[in-house]
Amino acid sequence: MLRILPYPHPALRYESRPVIQIDDELRGFVREMFDLMYAARGVGLAANQVGLPYRFFILNLTADPEKKEEEQVFINPEIVKRHASVENEEGCLSFPGLYTNVRRAKKIKFQAFDLQGNILQKEADDLFGRAFQHETDHLSGRLFIDTLGPLAQHSVKPKLREFEKSFRAAQAAGEYPSDEDIVRQLDAMNQPAAVSR
Ligand code: ZN
Repeated sequence: MLRILPYPHPALRYESRPVIQIDDELRGFVREMFDLMYAARGVGLAANQVGLPYRFFILNLTADPEKKEEEQVFINPEIVKRHASVENEEGCLSFPGLYTNVRRAKKIKFQAFDLQGNILQKEADDLFGRAFQHETDHLSGRLFIDTLGPLAQHSVKPKLREFEKSFRAAQAAGEYPSDEDIVRQLDAMNQPAAVSR
């Protein structure tokens, strides 16, 4: 069973490997991730946020579980062009309750595969563009708190310390393995041999 991992779980800093096969296992992960995302009232979720070190993420910009037609899956996404920049508020399901302004490209051009294996080449702006950049960053272990200016960084610090404290407490209580063991597990999953069959 998957769960959304909170900061500073090491999976959030893990560089994921490309997906090499779209199979039932992947489709199962996607379904489970949508359910977790809706339960947490989010619009996007990256695979490594649930401990899967693979390059894909899901979006439903309406956050509405009734609107299945708005569900999007992006596999091996790449941002190929960025245009201008704009600041706006962001949150993240791995940082419940934390919102801060983040500067992102105003408009992007991206490339990715969908769950049917079709290649997508599109432009994205507004919420779509922002969410796409946020989730693609996740897959490289980058988080929305990484690019804040000094002032914003200062203001999120107390909240980050709280997250750190409660994660370490949960770890000490045996709810999560040690950081070293988590990374070992992710490395083992990250071997292409582990998913090819
Ligand atoms: Zn996030």
